[in-house]
Amino acid sequence: MAERRIATCPTCKHKSEFEYLGVQYWPLETALALGLPAAVRLWSCLSCLTTLSEQNVWPQEIPYPTTLRRSVGTD
Ligand SMILES: [Zn+2]
Repeated sequence: MAERRIATCPTCKHKSEFEYLGVQYWPLETALALGLPAAVRLWSCLSCLTTLSEQNVWPQEIPYPTTLRRSVGTD
């Protein structure tokens, strides 16, 4: 059964249920260029059916991956 959580949707502004869709993996260069983590958990708002990454819905809970950023490209 899919995992669900309640949050306020940044797109439709409703307090809505979100259904977990899975993890999307970006190529590392793309992730760094966009300032995103290389792996993003995706959730779907059940009010407006928008697919959102986890850090858009619960930004306060997702630490920015500074270790990833530091470990790439400078050596
Ligand atoms: Zn929504």
